[in-house]
Amino acid sequence: MTEKKQQLGFATKAVHIGNRVDQDMLSRPKALPIYQTSVFTVDNLEHLDRQAAGDKNIYTYTRHGNPNQTALELLVAQFEEGEAAQATSSGMGAIMAAILAEVQTGDHIVATRDIYGGTKSFLVTELSRLGITTTFVDMSDLNNVKRAIQDNTRLVYSETASNPLLRITDVEKLSQLTKERSLKLIIDNTFITPYLFKPLLHGADIVVHSATKYLNGHSDATGGVVIGSKDFIERARRVTINFGASLSPFESWLTYRGAKTLALRMDKHCQNALQLASFLEDNPSVSKVFYPGLASHPDHPLAVKQFAKGFGGMLSFELKGTLARVEHFIRNLEHVLLAPSLAGIATTISHPVKTSHRSLTKEELADLGLSEQVIRVSVGIEDIEDIIEDFARALAKSQDY
Ligand SMILES: *Cc1c(COP(=O)(O)O)cnc(C)c1O
Repeated sequence: MTEKKQQLGFATKAVHIGNRVDQDMLSRPKALPIYQTSVFTVDNLEHLDRQAAGDKNIYTYTRHGNPNQTALELLVAQFEEGEAAQATSSGMGAIMAAILAEVQTGDHIVATRDIYGGTKSFLVTELSRLGITTTFVDMSDLNNVKRAIQDNTRLVYSETASNPLLRITDVEKLSQLTKERSLKLIIDNTFITPYLFKPLLHGADIVVHSATKYLNGHSDATGGVVIGSKDFIERARRVTINFGASLSPFESWLTYRGAKTLALRMDKHCQNALQLASFLEDNPSVSKVFYPGLASHPDHPLAVKQFAKGFGGMLSFELKGTLARVEHFIRNLEHVLLAPSLAGIATTISHPVKTSHRSLTKEELADLGLSEQVIRVSVGIEDIEDIIEDFARALAKSQDY
């Protein structure tokens, strides 16, 4: 009997042995480990009371919080110089949490007309059936925003740079208007990143990110972050928990690790993008280049004023010729891949009219100035000579179409 007690049963061993190898260690891991656990054990009931009272050192359940989420939240809050942050399972999770933390049924939103397609779909398809309406306006003229504001408007939603033509939002001017009218201003800073621009320091109330893009930067995790005041983040956290949009430990860990090299990557993205943009602008096969770092871009003066260290890694250009030429150009690229996302270390291209802007009518496309010859480039961190050579070759080979 006693002998039998010394040995745990096979199934019990399977469950318990090894779980605590780190507990008595006198050395600590240099890198943050992955807390790949759905639940945490606590020592006593008092700790549960402390956790309920808001003690951030006590975790209970990963949907409510996990050290890997916390690490990412602390880092991105500092990046954006906000009080607090909430990690979410995707950029859309962050946008959902930010908006639902602010609005009630009957409220109205003014949003930029060039908005990310997923955000537009969320506003039009999901929020409208909850009785929350949105007016989309061209925010390059603030009078359009003024005219769209109603008695029940609660927030204004914009993006630092639009997709795919890289129109830049004057956050300072827009925030003067939202402050005058006591509205909240949400800015999606995914394309520009806090390394180049911090909207909270220019009057925005809330910043959202698709961390899937530059914050992670390696195209291997999906995630989002909301940044704002402590009070606001408490509400966004509640929405995230209740709607089940928390970020998993592994995705949090990958994003946190990726974010550590944001400055290095952005410097290289910016340098490479400016060089590729200049090459394209000088190429006779290209009719237009849309890059805020070029003097030819309509928002270049604003970009110079707003962005500290560069103009980002995203650009678009319009090819001369037909859609068949675009097709041949894409097929002849050797290293540059066609992928409907952005902000990874590898240079990729996408075709807005066939992807993000597919649902727009011919009139709407014309109104935006977006043709089927426009190609968007997410410029990576490769040696730019190789990328320029790839573009030059594909442009030459597609010349007859
Ligand atoms: C990708 C993206 C989103 C959505 O993010 P997901 O991580 O795909 O949910 C939102 N805003 C912008 C500007 C994006 O590029």
